[in-house]
Amino acid sequence: MKLIDLRCSSCGAMMQVNPDLKKVVCNYCGSELLIDDESKKIEIANSYEYGYEAEKGKIKAQEEKLLEQKEKNKRKSLSKLIIWSFLFVLSLIAIKVAGTVDTFFVNIFSLCAFVLFVCIILALKDFLVIRG
Ligand SMILES: [Zn+2]
Repeated sequence: MKLIDLRCSSCGAMMQVNPDLKKVVCNYCGSELLIDDESKKIEIANSYEYGYEAEKGKIKAQEEKLLEQKEKNKRKSLSKLIIWSFLFVLSLIAIKVAGTVDTFFVNIFSLCAFVLFVCIILALKDFLVIRG
């Protein structure tokens, strides 16, 4: 059951009443109050106001969530960038080491380095796009 706020016209106390009732008795001073259409109108005006505030709150929450998601993506792309860069350096070292052993491994690690380089470029692009 939905209740509306009503102020007692004799003592000023606030109470919650069922708007379907025709009259209520104030808990504080005992006066009988009639529930008229005026109080229902106030209730409707309030619900518009509350609805507006609730909608505003919802939009704000969505914006915050979006910002949070953006921050998360930023961190993710940054850590990707760091990992790819680390592996890229590692493969460059491997090329240098393999150079003293076998050209076959040099080719393998060169391919790795190339793939990692492409990954770095893509991750860097992502990061810059997210950062805006
Ligand atoms: Zn009262």
